[in-house]
Amino acid sequence: MFCGCDSRVVPTTDSAAPQTQAQVSSHLSEGIAIPVTEPIVRVRLHRVGAGQPITIGEAGQSLTIRGGGAKIQIVGTVTLWREGGHWASRQGTPLSSAIINTPIIDVSAIDPMQVSGKSGRRYPTTIRCVADGDLFDVINVTPMSEYIPGVLAGELFEGWHDAAFEAQAVAARSFAVSECAQRQSRHWDVTDTPASQHYIGVPTWSQAQSTAAATAGQVLTFDGQIVAGYFSSCCGGRAATALDAVGPNPINSLAPLGGHGNPAACTHAPRYTWSDSWDAKDVARALQKFGARVGRSDLKRLRRVTAIRPIKPNQHGRPTMLDVGGAEVRCVDLPGIFTESGLKAPPSGWVSGRVRSGTLHLEGHGFGHGVGLCQYGAEDLASKSSAAHDILQFYYPGASITKAW
Ligand SMILES: [Zn+2]
Repeated sequence: MFCGCDSRVVPTTDSAAPQTQAQVSSHLSEGIAIPVTEPIVRVRLHRVGAGQPITIGEAGQSLTIRGGGAKIQIVGTVTLWREGGHWASRQGTPLSSAIINTPIIDVSAIDPMQVSGKSGRRYPTTIRCVADGDLFDVINVTPMSEYIPGVLAGELFEGWHDAAFEAQAVAARSFAVSECAQRQSRHWDVTDTPASQHYIGVPTWSQAQSTAAATAGQVLTFDGQIVAGYFSSCCGGRAATALDAVGPNPINSLAPLGGHGNPAACTHAPRYTWSDSWDAKDVARALQKFGARVGRSDLKRLRRVTAIRPIKPNQHGRPTMLDVGGAEVRCVDLPGIFTESGLKAPPSGWVSGRVRSGTLHLEGHGFGHGVGLCQYGAEDLASKSSAAHDILQFYYPGASITKAW
């Protein structure tokens, strides 16, 4: 169970050729157009350091390796790394000079492929290696229909109700469409971690496949645009808005991403409420460090923390900001502020608490950013016979479910 997605744009140094994307029905200046053909999703699996090898495939597997206009076929695995500005390989794979010198190598097979460092997982369609000097990215390039089952298996528990899976499938597909549309000039669309949405390749259990197939091509739409289907593990009972908790991107201003006032459905979730403690000096240092990084002199000068108090609730009663000794911090930034200083992350930024004897005790609500679908709430609604459509209406009020392709 992971906390879902956010829309952080991760800086990259792109050297990739343009990737063919699905055609879109029209160009919208601010919103995301609804695709009319199935998008290809480019999932970054690894960022590989200089001289580090990656192995693709398994014994006896037929692999097709393409790059620089050349194509070779091998049986077995291929191990690749960067050396002196070109590709190197071992285990007798005779890469042609066209392949060695191209920035992009595609390895494809009929059956899913293993990738080293992702033990036990298999990935469909194509593994793409994109060079960036002597580093490279390893990217699974696969149609949306192959991608979504691996997200469902990464994000939900086997055996949860099918309606929860189907609602999650539509939300995850909508989020992925939004990311693909926004990253067309980059060489990957999403990571395989909860920074985008957790993806495990080809699932080993059938419910993820069947529920993805049952919703094939379905996306959330509003006013002719894609609704980015943000979701989190547990909203803690009150919804966040995408503008507050994801960011000021115009796509986040669509009405269905403004949250809802429905009663909490996730009250049985393990982190509906939680409590934890930190060394108060460590927390003060983390806030100072964040202040220095983002140019906030009030945080930089913060001497100590005696309490953290939630303030500025949104229209649903969920706080958007925290008061930390007279300085304000966005709730959504708190987990990252802790982790970038090496502290354990609070499950969410909706917290309150005081310092006693040098220890900051926090009470918190939910796990993740709280925008859009709440996974534990979706499962609770599904267990009470709600259909996927009803669950999506609950969390994305006013959105339509459109079969886009
Ligand atoms: Zn919830």
